[in-house]
Amino acid sequence: MFLEPHFKGQRSGWIEVICGSMFSGKTEELIRRLKRARIANQKVQIFKPKIDTRYDDTKVVSHDANSILSTPVESSRKILELIENVNVIGIDEAQFFDMDLPEVCQALALKGIRVIAAGLDMDFKGEPFGPIPNLLSVAEYITKVHAICQHCGNLATHSYRLSNEKAKVVLGEKDSYEARCRTCYHMGNILDLKVAPNNKSDNLAGLKLEVEIEDED
Ligand SMILES: [Zn+2]
Repeated sequence: MFLEPHFKGQRSGWIEVICGSMFSGKTEELIRRLKRARIANQKVQIFKPKIDTRYDDTKVVSHDANSILSTPVESSRKILELIENVNVIGIDEAQFFDMDLPEVCQALALKGIRVIAAGLDMDFKGEPFGPIPNLLSVAEYITKVHAICQHCGNLATHSYRLSNEKAKVVLGEKDSYEARCRTCYHMGNILDLKVAPNNKSDNLAGLKLEVEIEDED
């Protein structure tokens, strides 16, 4: 478990990143840290990209409905305009922000603010997601949280997309994605939980489609 560093009289802030796959509890961990800071009477502000309107426009909502109010913003630079004498800034769904996010977080940290950003480190293709890799490299503290592979029970690091949609951003939860370990992720839709045993032929057709698409790349 992450324990806050003890910096008495320290003038500078710092950057924490909480990353991992879907269903790994990133937002829950972000909320845990923010709530504890708030209990200690620290002034907390929370931002999220405007793109994520799955549940609510003004809340960071984790999937267990343990939510906390946040401000949706169009760009990371907007955060610099909206801060008001805060100690801690939380950023949820950080992967959806633009590439200026690391620079913005560093500017905030230099103002003495503790910045906590949570986001997916990999997209559904298993590739680094948006500004997260750059943010990791400038952060003081990184916590990689894991889900449990829905097939084998090992630690899951990958978000497997169940549909054939190719867009990078497909919002949705349990119906659209599975948390998978590296091995199960690369086994693709042979493992598709949604396919009943008597539908095996459909499943194989889906697999063929996946292979054909990969050949195009
Ligand atoms: Zn697995």
